[in-house]
Amino acid sequence: MLVEYKNEALVNFSLPENRTAMEQELAKIATLKGRHYPLVIGGKKIDTEARITSVNPSNFEEVIGTTARANTELAESAVQSALSAFAEWQYVSPEERARYLFKAAAIMRRKKFEFSAWLVEESGKNWVEADADTAEAIDFLEYYAHQMLQYAAGMPVVPNAGEQNECFYIPLGVGLIIPPWNFPLAILAGMTAAAIVTGNTVIMKPASTTPIIAAKLMELWEEVSLPPGVVNFLPGSGSAIGDYLVSHPKIRFINFTGSKEVGLRINKLAADVVPGQKWIKRVVAEMGGKDAIIVDSEADIEDAANGIVASAFGFQGQKCSACSRAIIVADVYDEIVAKVAAKTKALKMGPASDPTINMGPVIDKNAYGKILEYIEIGKSEGRIVAGGVKGAENGYFIEPTVVADVDSKARVAQEEIFGPVVALIKAADYNQAIAIANDTEYGLTGAVYSKNRTKLEKARREFHVGNLYLNRKCTGALVGVHPFGGFNMSGTDSKAGGADYLLLFMQAKSVAEKL
Ligand code: GLU
Repeated sequence: MLVEYKNEALVNFSLPENRTAMEQELAKIATLKGRHYPLVIGGKKIDTEARITSVNPSNFEEVIGTTARANTELAESAVQSALSAFAEWQYVSPEERARYLFKAAAIMRRKKFEFSAWLVEESGKNWVEADADTAEAIDFLEYYAHQMLQYAAGMPVVPNAGEQNECFYIPLGVGLIIPPWNFPLAILAGMTAAAIVTGNTVIMKPASTTPIIAAKLMELWEEVSLPPGVVNFLPGSGSAIGDYLVSHPKIRFINFTGSKEVGLRINKLAADVVPGQKWIKRVVAEMGGKDAIIVDSEADIEDAANGIVASAFGFQGQKCSACSRAIIVADVYDEIVAKVAAKTKALKMGPASDPTINMGPVIDKNAYGKILEYIEIGKSEGRIVAGGVKGAENGYFIEPTVVADVDSKARVAQEEIFGPVVALIKAADYNQAIAIANDTEYGLTGAVYSKNRTKLEKARREFHVGNLYLNRKCTGALVGVHPFGGFNMSGTDSKAGGADYLLLFMQAKSVAEKL
């Protein structure tokens, strides 16, 4: 009997045994840093002279590892290997496909601290954030395996006398998986697992800033003996292989999570039918957000301030769900500003491997430069009440920054910064707060703090976001519990970790047999 799906418990790092386990893994992986990882195409390791070097954002002198870097010729061979693997994999039963995921989840659970240690060092997540990323990866593997077993029953059909009818789900074909670097394990595992458990084969093209954790996931797919070519590991740059693959006639779908700009470009490229292409490519894109927390005058002020700080600065604000605007009703504005500023100043920043820190570095030089530019813009568009400066310069450290008195149309209130910067906006009343919250091109997450039922109900109806949270923070969606994905320019309205997600990677075939 299959055990019921439930979310993976988070590690309690206040327990000495858990702290020791994490320290041991960090020490162990320290001896494994700097290793090189080849491509994996059709089960074969293939190396290239060109390399991608992954550095520790907490200390960019340190190399986490290197990977091979694919060119178009290797990308072509990855497509061919995924195509030939598809010939068999599409007919492997859903139960068997699900078992690979259950097994991968079980191994990942056993190696939990190891995966989390790599996340700490390669992505700059603190221990708690890294553990949440690993737990979410385990959740995606198990949840999608369970979901596949349900979809194996097919679509219900109405009986028709004299016929035997059924409608069942079949896979699409070869998919391209382009994950983000901000949940380099969870989102990569989820996007890949959903595509393969439904019977597709894929090319996994990791983000160039976090390819080592992706290589670790590839090792896991190999460890569970996934047939060669079902997942191909193909690090490489967007310009060198991304466009080539998106435009390839044999690619059937693209599963993308990342910025709006890249998502729109993929959507456009994928829409062009090229010679030899027999289908309309499906694009599943999860893009950005400019997420808001609304604080009403009838809110628990302490809770609201905590929610803003946690949502704005968890993983340095580098979540598409992060709170980058707090819209505060005038009566409580000054109080919230003071509390948010004080709580932000109390956050400790340092290398991600230090268990006592709240904030680590941002991901890379580009992000660092862009966020610092936005902070300069913020200085002219508002009043800095916390942060506003860089931290230690051996890593990409930026102090958590709160910009108060920002106009709702200001750039820092409209553009996705993807870093530790939150804009505080004053609203005349609750109705205006909702209007301001909806006044961006995105619609991913949002939260409202209020004790007033009528106001909460208004938010339920009118706050146009894919993930709305009432009286809690706007980050930390749980697989299966909070199906995740947004509206408008936040993407294609899909719900990762939702019961309908797998349908995006399948098509339904109806068969009628005359009796
Ligand atoms: N699912 C994550 C959350 O709820 C955010 C994912 C992302 O940033 O892409 O916080």
